[in-house]
Amino acid sequence: MKKEVTRNHAQSKNHFNLMIRNLGHSLGASEIGFSDLSRLPAQKRMHYNHAITVMIKLSDGILNQIESAPTHTYFSHYRSVNRLLDDISLRILLALEAQNYASVAIPASQSVADPDDPFAGAFAHKTAAVLAGMGWIGCSALFIHQRYGPRVRLATILTNAPVAAGEPVTQSGCGSCRACVSACPALAIEGQLWTPGLARNALYDANACSQHMKDAFHHIGRGAVCGLCVVACPIGK
Ligand code: SF4
Ligand code: SF4
Repeated sequence: MKKEVTRNHAQSKNHFNLMIRNLGHSLGASEIGFSDLSRLPAQKRMHYNHAITVMIKLSDGILNQIESAPTHTYFSHYRSVNRLLDDISLRILLALEAQNYASVAIPASQSVADPDDPFAGAFAHKTAAVLAGMGWIGCSALFIHQRYGPRVRLATILTNAPVAAGEPVTQSGCGSCRACVSACPALAIEGQLWTPGLARNALYDANACSQHMKDAFHHIGRGAVCGLCVVACPIGK
């Protein structure tokens, strides 16, 4: 009897995942992931138990135009994909709330005024994506999707909805590659392999990266990364 109840519960969770996944894909998401956040401090996850990750794959055509500097087209693409992510997240959020599940959507690209880390968002999208089993954190501190590498953008919906969570990734897949280290013009990437819980500044210097963007590519636009570490990565190329 107990087994039967457990199986029904798992089935209804899977049914829920399917409903969210179908909605996300119909709106343009490349992949939807589900994670259990309970191992994170409650404050960090805003007291929500689960996360839904919305992922969009970036255009290879646009990324492949980047040779030694970002392009205007890349800058615009980056912005457009962020907007689409926010739209998809909003639609999923409204669908969850219509079923009375408390949830909040974290914008794809928004820094909050944290004196300890001026480059941090309200919640790290990469954390949820790794816990969902979608990929790992590269030496570049970028999220590296199992198939598309760093050629993706992410958004997150924190929720108390009963989703079936994926199996977290706990190891870097970078191996002996350090292509992003050599590609970085700001010397911002340390070259250390990620392990769960490693602080971002052990991997890369966000200040040096941002300053390089301001100094070298001010004419292209504010708020996007230069992209050389993205195109150098062999995963997803
Ligand atoms: S975006 Fe550019 S400057 Fe920043 S870490 Fe990547 S390669 Fe270096
Ligand atoms: S370029 Fe190599 S080391 Fe850097 S993130 Fe990609 S796989 Fe990892």
